[in-house]
This record gives sequence, C-alpha cells and structure tokens, in this order.
Amino acid sequence: MTVVHSAELIAVGTELLLGEIDDTNSAWLARELAARSVDVYWSQRVGDNRERIAQAIRAALDRADLVLLCGGLGPTEDDLTREAIADVLGEEPAVDAALERSLRERFGRLGRDMPNGNLKQAWLIPSAEGLANPAGTAPGWLVRTAIDGRERYIAALPGPPFELERMWREQLSPRLSFAESAFVATTLKTQGIGESHVAEVLAGLTEASNPTVATYAKRDGVHVRIAAKGSDRGAAHALLAPVLAEVERRLSGHVWGRDDEELPALVLALLRRRRVLLALVDGASGGVLIDRLDEAGGPADDEWPLSTAVIAWRDDALAVLGSALPAAASPEPAAADAATVAVHLAELGRARCAADLCLALAPWRVEAMAGTPESAMWTTAWAVAGPDGTEARRVTLPDLGHGWRRERVAFTALVALWTQLLDT
Ligand code: ATP
Repeated sequence: MTVVHSAELIAVGTELLLGEIDDTNSAWLARELAARSVDVYWSQRVGDNRERIAQAIRAALDRADLVLLCGGLGPTEDDLTREAIADVLGEEPAVDAALERSLRERFGRLGRDMPNGNLKQAWLIPSAEGLANPAGTAPGWLVRTAIDGRERYIAALPGPPFELERMWREQLSPRLSFAESAFVATTLKTQGIGESHVAEVLAGLTEASNPTVATYAKRDGVHVRIAAKGSDRGAAHALLAPVLAEVERRLSGHVWGRDDEELPALVLALLRRRRVLLALVDGASGGVLIDRLDEAGGPADDEWPLSTAVIAWRDDALAVLGSALPAAASPEPAAADAATVAVHLAELGRARCAADLCLALAPWRVEAMAGTPESAMWTTAWAVAGPDGTEARRVTLPDLGHGWRRERVAFTALVALWTQLLDT
C-alpha cells in the first residue's frame, strides 16, 4: 500500500466562498494530517460547480498522494462532489445495492420513506469504496487510482464537522498508510512583547525548516510554535528540545505558559495555592477580566478565590466604593494620571472588600492625536495592591477596536497579577 506523504485539501461549497461559513473542516483535517507527518502544500476552496470541482481535483492529483475533499455529498442537485470525481476518472456512477439497502434501513429506522433524491448517496464508481457514515446519510468515498504508475487516493468526506471527523477517524485514516515519522510541537505563550519584537529576538531560528519556529499574534499575547519532524517521536523530540530551550532563553521573562495552558486558569490556581482572596475593580475591560476568570473555574466552586468585582465605565461611577478619587485625581478626574487612579482604586478596593490582593484598572483616557480620529491613543493603568504595597503601570493602546482593547487590557492585567503571585 502506498504510504501517504503528501495531501491536498479541497473544501466544496459555495457558502464557503461567500464567507457564510468558516472552513473549519480544512483546518481540522490539516492538523490531523500534520500529526501523521503528511505534508500539505495546497488547500483549495471551491463552489458547488461540477467543472470547477473537477479542475480542482485534477490540479491536486498532479501534486499530492491523497486528494481529500469535504462537502458536496448531500442528496441535492448542487451536491456535486461525486459527479466531479467520476468526471476526472472517466467513470460512470451507479447505485450500489448494499449502500442503497443501508440508506433505506436508516430512513426506515427514522420512520420515513427515502426521497428519490437520496438515491445518489448510494452511488459508487468502480474504483471507489464506500465509507460508512453512522452519524448521517452521506457515505464517503475512498477512490484508488494511479498516475504515472504511482498509486494515488481521492477521498470524499461529508461536510458536517461531526460526521467528517468521525468518518476520518473510524473509516478513512485506518484504510491509509502513513510514514513512521513523528511530528511534535510545543507552543510558548508570551506577554509584554509585540510580534515584530519577538521576530527580531528569534532571528536566525524562524528561517529554519526543521524544527520550524513560527509566531502568531493572539488575544492573550504572541504565541511561538516550535515544531519538529523525526523518524520517530524520540528523534523528533531530540530535534525539538535544544531549539525550544533556545527560544525560552531568548524570550525569558515574557513566557507565561505553553500549549493548552490558559492564563486565567493559571492565575486561579495560584490564588488557590497561596490562599489569597482577590478583589477586582475594573474600569477598563468592561467585565472581560471577571468573565475570563469565571470561565476558567466559576464561583460554584467552594474555593472560589474572588471576593468582589466592581465594574465601572467612568471614574465617578467608582464612587460606589465609597470614596472620592484622590487629590491628585481631582478636581478633573478625567485628566488625572491613570496610574494614580489605579493605585487609589486598588487600595480602596482591597480595604473595602476585605481582600488580600486587589487588582484595579483605571477607566480609559482617550488622547486624540494629531490627524485622524483613528490615531487616538487609549490609556489606562493597572494596579495591584497587596500587604506589601501597591504596584502600578500605565498601559497605552492604539485604537484597534473595542473588543480587542478590552481583551488586551484584561490579559495585561492578568499577567501583572500572575507575576505578583509568583513573587509572593
Ligand atoms: P449533507 O449530507 O449534510 O448535505 P454534504 O457533504 O453535502 O452533507 P454540505 O452540504 O457541503 O455537506 O455542507 C453541510 C453543512 O456542513 C454546511 O451547511 C456546514 O454547516 C457544514 N460544512 C460544510 N463544509 C464545511 C467546512 N469546510 N467547514 C466547516 N463546516 C462545513
């Protein structure tokens, strides 16, 4: 059996081209293939058009051992994946008796007659094998063909992600053979350093091809992914380890986690371990801060280490804490230095809420810069008040949108808190 070294993905559906649905199937399949050391150099999206699907398959067959299609296996006139595969191979589809029987049984179990349109889901061509779909009506196809004497595969999976994933795991991947080699990857998550700065720091590593080092700007900071391929897992790890250590050395002080670790969960775990009760005074993230902590381990839990959260949009709304802003911040609170306000709020919050630590974010100040309104800079500050004093820092962000700004400041504040907790 030919070992699959390369694959190409084709996602079929006009709704994908119109942006009505996201092509998550291709991303999912790409990860599955990468985990099996299969190279994917091309990935296409094509509408429900028989000729264009056929063109996409022909191009892919020239380049890859496995052409993996998803979608277009439904019963309607615009589900054309089967027809296009038959066109490319010059074969004629015909109803397969066994597939027809199992389809009719499926409809029977649901107490319904099978509409005539569904009969095409029982089609096969001579070089195709049917792949059972326990989660839906559309069986998949695995086609074996040859080009220039070399065996190639064309596989078609249904569009609904749940059906596709199950069919890939249970039906298709066990029928294919993959190289022995193994692929390992680790992602380091950073804060307090921009993507271009990370790229500069990692110069010389990001150009290499094995291991590869790549950077991704995410809402919780810049992620750096180090991935290696070897003849087995041990060999892949041996390649990965020194590069990972070097990346960690160069980014020292900025890495807060790796792989599946999430900052809110790390913060909650530290609060619990140190038995620290926290209060939040949030004038900048509009509740994103508390929402992320709640998502990571909500208050249903007996050991929920959060006493109080106050969310406000304006300095004067924070009077709910029972005190006017400090002298430095009045009589023009809007003009007051954000860090002074944050310190005041953190100390007030800590005292009023009887907490060990209080994390505060000052309400935003918007500074219109010369030129367009888009060039406005948004300034806030975080402060963490604890038994040994209060630390604070200003945070200034460009106007890149409401949601982004709230997420960014929430994660910046969580990093500040996490760093303090590590030190205590
Ligand atoms: P069905 O038998 O359900 O008609 P199908 O194979 O014909 O399956 P499509 O009609 O192309 O699949 O898509 C059905 C649904 O599957 C879409 O409406 C969408 O929700 C989901 N889907 C299709 N393609 C993708 C994709 N590439 N990524 C994520 N979801 C997809």
